[in-house]
Amino acid sequence: MKKRYELIVVGGGFAGVSAAISAARNGVDVLLIERYNCLGGAAANALVMPFMEYWTKLPETGERKYLCGNLFLEIVRAHQEICATKGREHEFDEEIMKLVLNRIALKNGVKLLFNTTVFESNVVEGNIVSIKALGKSQVIELFADYYIDATGDAELSMLSGCPYTIGREKDNLCQPMTLCFRLSGVDMEKFRINRNKINSLYTEFQKKGLIKNPRENVLIFSNFNDGVLHFNSTRIVKHNPTDPFAVTDAEIEAREQVFELYQFLKKNIEGFEHARVLSTALQIGIRESRKIEGEYTLTEEDLKSLARFDDAVATANYDIDIHSPSGSGTSHYYFGDGQWYEIPYRCLLPKNMDNLLVAGRCISSTHEAQASYRIMPFCAELGQAAGMAVAVAKKNKTNMRDVDIAQLQKLLRSEGFSI
Ligand SMILES: Cc1cc2nc3c(=O)[nH]c(=O)nc-3n(C[C@H](O)[C@H](O)[C@H](O)COP(=O)(O)OP(=O)(O)OC[C@H]3O[C@@H](n4cnc5c(N)ncnc54)[C@H](O)[C@@H]3O)c2cc1C
Repeated sequence: MKKRYELIVVGGGFAGVSAAISAARNGVDVLLIERYNCLGGAAANALVMPFMEYWTKLPETGERKYLCGNLFLEIVRAHQEICATKGREHEFDEEIMKLVLNRIALKNGVKLLFNTTVFESNVVEGNIVSIKALGKSQVIELFADYYIDATGDAELSMLSGCPYTIGREKDNLCQPMTLCFRLSGVDMEKFRINRNKINSLYTEFQKKGLIKNPRENVLIFSNFNDGVLHFNSTRIVKHNPTDPFAVTDAEIEAREQVFELYQFLKKNIEGFEHARVLSTALQIGIRESRKIEGEYTLTEEDLKSLARFDDAVATANYDIDIHSPSGSGTSHYYFGDGQWYEIPYRCLLPKNMDNLLVAGRCISSTHEAQASYRIMPFCAELGQAAGMAVAVAKKNKTNMRDVDIAQLQKLLRSEGFSI
């Protein structure tokens, strides 16, 4: 089977779906390919929630200024409308989110291909000519003028021979992987009363060797469903998230950690006596893996100096949130009210490629810089910018290197970007 499109986006997370919608809305014929059966990426597959903050408070007026672009806000509003959660900007129900993303993508003419994994890229002189994907045991060859890699793991870039880095510079260790899970049947009133006891007891158990999970505390979020708690609290360190054997070991170890935490809470904390493991995510969550080597590498210094770039296409301000890649501890560097940094177009542009852009958590940056812009709202923003860049390239009949940046920025500003 062979098919042709103007743009192929690989990966249906917030970066990929935003890229596809943004390009389609601006007149590009787009195919979006996703390995699983739905859109949402880590939110759907790894049960990641909630949205971390995507705005800043302006010190002069106290006003909230969004830093994510209008498309992400449109997605949030469409979800709020169905769930009647107006004003609750962090929370979402991933089942409703999957529906919302399908609807917005289809309404804008995006073609979807689910349950299909891209495994090969045919590159000639810096241009991807076609890619091969496996769906229902069939190899499909797909052709396009432009491609966007929104796989989180920079899979299309890797398959195309682009250079990339993994993890932090000194030892290539990545942020930990986490298998998120949910407990049902929790007595919420008793949980609220006893919540403060959990971490001190957890530390005591850790010291006695009764808890093997290296994470320093138990990270719990409330959930849409009554009596259900969400745990982002397993921690697998020193496993390479791009090695399938290491990821298998990580999944096995994380499942033991889920059981360990479940038993710890059930046996020791009032309110959890009748708790059950409701669900674990379809796959372990990967915070960091490959990052492409692009025409510019965003650094921690850029973030801390609130860098501005002539070719800026995105803004972000989430804290530099590094879960220890080697054991216990999480470090933070917070931005103040009214502070944000910019991300240049060159971070989305892999070295040596003419018709490929990268969006989402795998753009070109250091380990430290990635720890900040990696949250879902900013991945969506990067995707929206990438999709718009393809629309500009198509209109002007250029490759992705020669995109008219001034024209792109003007369009992004009209979409609520603060560049
Ligand atoms: C445990 C954990 C907790 C987090 N907590 C938060 C949080 O609370 N709030 C927040 O905002 N962010 C959080 N994040 C960060 C955030 O979830 C991710 O950084 C973000 O979702 C990345 O978006 P993305 O679109 O770049 O990639 P992803 O969401 O990973 O999407 C990539 C998609 O590409 C698909 N894909 C990959 N390879 C292929 C292929 N070869 N062929 C076809 N499809 C492919 C995948 O199936 C996936 O759907 C967390 C991350 C983790 C792991």
